Amino acid sequence: MKLIELFKTKKPVISFEIFPPKLDTPLESIYNKLEQFKELKPDFISVTYGAGGSAKDRTIEIASKIKNDYNIESMAHFTCVGHSKEEIDNLLSSLESNNLENVLALRGDPPANQPDFDFSKNIYSHASELIKHIRSKHNLCISAAAYAEGHINSKRILDDLINLKNKVDTGVDFLVTQLFFDNRIFYDFLDRAKTLGISCPITAGIMPVFKSEQIIKIASLCGASIPAKLVLMMDKYKNNPDDMLKAGIEYASAQIRDLIDNHVDGIHLMTMNRASSTKEILDNIGI
Ligand SMILES: Cc1cc2nc3c(=O)[nH]c(=O)nc-3n(C[C@H](O)[C@H](O)[C@H](O)COP(=O)(O)OP(=O)(O)OC[C@H]3O[C@@H](n4cnc5c(N)ncnc54)[C@H](O)[C@@H]3O)c2cc1C
Repeated sequence: MKLIELFKTKKPVISFEIFPPKLDTPLESIYNKLEQFKELKPDFISVTYGAGGSAKDRTIEIASKIKNDYNIESMAHFTCVGHSKEEIDNLLSSLESNNLENVLALRGDPPANQPDFDFSKNIYSHASELIKHIRSKHNLCISAAAYAEGHINSKRILDDLINLKNKVDTGVDFLVTQLFFDNRIFYDFLDRAKTLGISCPITAGIMPVFKSEQIIKIASLCGASIPAKLVLMMDKYKNNPDDMLKAGIEYASAQIRDLIDNHVDGIHLMTMNRASSTKEILDNIGI
């Protein structure tokens, strides 16, 4: 099923994000988790794409397993950084040959060892060019990334919003946001996106705080701000991982409850492959 059809009939669409295990870890480790995720009846599960295409085959294999063996709709993330046109087409064709209908089309980050990577030397400098390419050659439902606080490299948030509007206009079906911890920022982003004429569904990316060091690292990489309330919480429980986990689950649950009360199109829960904590969050919000 093309996920855009789901957004037309259901609100909020509840989705999970998982990542492939490292190459030296057997795929069974994620399949065992999928059994547990299935119990939670997500509307779809997305599978991330390792930076620069590491484990790219695993992304497709897992997305295919989710759809074809677990009967849950799936979406593969795909970054074009470092790929040739031929590799891009091969990959997209292999999505189609695996019966996959949904792709999150991304430019990707600079390779880890090249922070000053020149994207003008990449096959596509921006995700919008990749999306145009997919639209012209493949019959896939296309989602794209959005940044409620602006992409970390954009000098002005408004520039990023204008780029987002142009990206959507190249053929995006729906948007998935980067994680954020303050819903007011998200609501403000929705208002500004609407004013600019972005009318496709926008699903809210939520990452629960399971470990404070992990969140600080991820937030610093993607440029998400950590509100004072969360800083205090992480400080309070920094030496107590069990209480940190409980507090993180409660914070994410409260964030999602508020989003649902405000009629968001969807919640995209970045599960960090943690099925039991994901279950606790859904139990808390009554889903
Ligand atoms: C929901 C979500 C899932 C993600 N999943 C993954 C994953 O699985 N694997 C992974 O490696 N990374 C992932 N990322 C991270 C993503 O690859 C990075 O954020 C990357 O730096 C940007 O990708 P993009 O597709 O948003 O790029 P773009 O849309 O191309 O934007 C990148 C920058 O270029 C600017 N820009 C866009 N168009 C133009 C233009 N025409 N002219 C000038 N500037 C322009 C934008 O404002 C922005 O600053 C994900 C991000 C999100 C939000």
